[in-house]
Amino acid sequence: MKNCRSRGEGTREATSGGARNPELDRQNPDTIVSPETDHGTMPSLKFPYELSHMRIQEGGWSREVTAREMPASDTIAGVNMHLEPGGVRELHWHKEAEWAFMIKGSARVTAIDQEGQIFVDDVEEGGLWYFPPGIPHSIKGLEHGAEFILVFDDGYFSENSTFSIADWFAHTPKDVLAANFGVPEETFDNFLDGELYMFQGEVPGPIIQELPEDANRGVQSPFTFSLYDVEPVKTKGGTARIADSSNFKQSKTVAAALVEVEPGGIREMHWHPNQAEWQFYLEGQGRMTVFAATGKARTYDYREGDAGYVPFAMGHYIQNTGDTTLKFLEMFRSDRFEEISLSRWMSQTPPKLLKEHLPLSDDFINNHLHSDQRPVVKWDQDGQ
Ligand code: MN
Ligand code: MN
Repeated sequence: MKNCRSRGEGTREATSGGARNPELDRQNPDTIVSPETDHGTMPSLKFPYELSHMRIQEGGWSREVTAREMPASDTIAGVNMHLEPGGVRELHWHKEAEWAFMIKGSARVTAIDQEGQIFVDDVEEGGLWYFPPGIPHSIKGLEHGAEFILVFDDGYFSENSTFSIADWFAHTPKDVLAANFGVPEETFDNFLDGELYMFQGEVPGPIIQELPEDANRGVQSPFTFSLYDVEPVKTKGGTARIADSSNFKQSKTVAAALVEVEPGGIREMHWHPNQAEWQFYLEGQGRMTVFAATGKARTYDYREGDAGYVPFAMGHYIQNTGDTTLKFLEMFRSDRFEEISLSRWMSQTPPKLLKEHLPLSDDFINNHLHSDQRPVVKWDQDGQ
């Protein structure tokens, strides 16, 4: 079997007659024959959700990519979850903050805030929620069910070790429960002996039927947000929508961008001065090269359902390698989205100083650098 690629001049080949998985080879051309610029040993910065354990229950399923699956990703862990219509993720809480993006369908979330005020909202496609650490919440699939990606601000988080309401009842003696609620002990005879985690419930009616009259009114800032309502940064190569604590006030430890790169476009060369980047690929296919200093660089191929990661401050770019829109989320354990664009940095640097570093022409410096925010650009030769 032969795999080859050409970039610019010359063709490189990798030939093997040994044990192969041609389907994986086809999906990872930049792993099987890496660009010549790749160099040195790098950790895996990719993990497909298809290789994660599916926790299937009545009412839905979940699967996670944590630091266990992708050891480099110690800042953020991600859970992909599906709820059937009426499927419920049990009332629970955890030590980490939870941020979510609704991929398909819709769900009703409930929470109480730090002052004990109830919050109930329906989250549609493109909607977000953010529950601070320790805030109890639940999620329920509406009439068409729901599929979403959850991220937690700790790479070692596991969705399988949360505080569940039924589990606490199961691990509290009946006499204590009786004293706590002021009811006879028999009240608790038919309670479960552990957590529910997920179960099939009823599809709820319109939100107005479930809301106490003063719901949400007392909540200082909502736990939900619509990312599709954010005015995108539009460029020739695509769009980027940003949500962080500047527009989604609750989201104090997760900042995010939804990026769409058109065919022939590139998420330009950049890095983030504040945090590592955790990615989830929603649609299309692309490749990312990560520059790790000391001459190290490696290229990874991604497609929908993949998680990706960029360790803190490493330079990177993402190319759309398909013929459809590449759509992905980038998340940071931070209160705000920050990035340093290579082009923007160079545009602000004295030309003389630049020329002392790199053999650049005046035309390059004057006409091919940008000083505005332009996260997605074209990479064909006549674009800029
Ligand atoms: Mn949760
Ligand atoms: Mn980035």
